[in-house]
Amino acid sequence: MARKASIRDLSDAQLKGKRALVRVDFNVPLDADLRITDDTRIRAALPTIRFLAERGASVILLSHLGRPKGKPVAKDSLAPVARHLAELLSSPVGFSQTTVGDEAVRLTRALPPGDVLLLENTRFLSGEESNDPTLAAELAALGDVFVNDAFGAAHRAHASTVGVAQFLRPAVAGFLMEKELEYLGRALAEPRRPFVAILGGAKISGKIDVIAQLLPKVDGMLIGGAMACTFYQAMGLGIGKSLVEPDRVGMAKDLLATAGARLTLPHDAMVAPSIDQPARAHAVPRDRIPATEAMYDIGPRTAESYARAIATAKTVIWNGPMGVFESPPFDAGTIAIARAMAAATDHGTTTIVGGGDSAAAVAQAGLESRMSHVSTGGGASLEYLEGKTLPGVAALDDVS
Ligand code: ADP
Ligand code: MG
Repeated sequence: MARKASIRDLSDAQLKGKRALVRVDFNVPLDADLRITDDTRIRAALPTIRFLAERGASVILLSHLGRPKGKPVAKDSLAPVARHLAELLSSPVGFSQTTVGDEAVRLTRALPPGDVLLLENTRFLSGEESNDPTLAAELAALGDVFVNDAFGAAHRAHASTVGVAQFLRPAVAGFLMEKELEYLGRALAEPRRPFVAILGGAKISGKIDVIAQLLPKVDGMLIGGAMACTFYQAMGLGIGKSLVEPDRVGMAKDLLATAGARLTLPHDAMVAPSIDQPARAHAVPRDRIPATEAMYDIGPRTAESYARAIATAKTVIWNGPMGVFESPPFDAGTIAIARAMAAATDHGTTTIVGGGDSAAAVAQAGLESRMSHVSTGGGASLEYLEGKTLPGVAALDDVS
């Protein structure tokens, strides 16, 4: 696979005094008072912004926020993000209420080298999600070079991620995009072995393509989360009131038959009569799940054996929590995995976390900085692991 060009590949002449139009992923959570509750994605774009500003480009930022569906919605304005970004950069950040058109273009042309301007939410525009070529051309008029640093939006073929690159060249990856592709790409193409994948989460249906794609590549696949219960059912085990996808049991059977020893299901389970009865949580072997209770986490024996597998691996990819981590004590399995991965990183193992909830669990455990890489793009990393081409990446220039 050809490498995609990045901002490193741009010459001084391509940046100095030029307008760098940067698609970032500033789709951050805001509370009712429009305060940003998690600025991870904004901080993740800082290296690219700083680099371009230092190289003498004026930096024009594009992003989506929320799901305003093609028209302006006050609560989805990026204005609070511009203020927050200014604090993080310790320098002023301009904000344009119009995303495209004469006034927006005028602001981009008036922007001095090294300065930063954020344009209003791309999803306020009706042509964004339909990748309308007219809008794409209008977006392209906002810059002299296109940089895509929005890995989290790279699985969507929108005007600001794909269409714009058809009208504006060079079109290159930012540092965050580059890092995401490097880690995920190398893990899939040339993993250091043993290569272990840990998959969990609520639904097997959302992860089936990842399982199918990763199974032939990994040395071991460890399953957790509610999806374990669909496998249990396929194995003929009783699962009580656990979450299950009855229409996927056949598929789970097929996977068990083809995977053989590489696929590991939890040996034991943390169960309770309901999620709001944490005091009644107890561990049972997987063939003893009571008919009146549900599995909410992997059990302690499983957590230990998964931790051992992680300790001897050289590459670990984790997607999907092991249990209902939002609700202690059912976070124990997920925390055990996060800790085992953090320890493995210290011993030189490449540890990669993909998936929005898994990343949140790692952050909650305070272990983010102890992973080799925590992907900022839940859906995008999942599609990448499924082996799909991300349209936002495909649209960028190749390096020959
Ligand atoms: P990610 O965002 O990391 O890809 P998913 O969205 O697939 O992860 O799954 C996360 C959700 O799965 C969490 O909300 C968690 O509560 C839920 N979950 C995990 N294990 C169970 C379980 N045993 N029963 C019910 N829900 C579960
Ligand atoms: Mg999720």
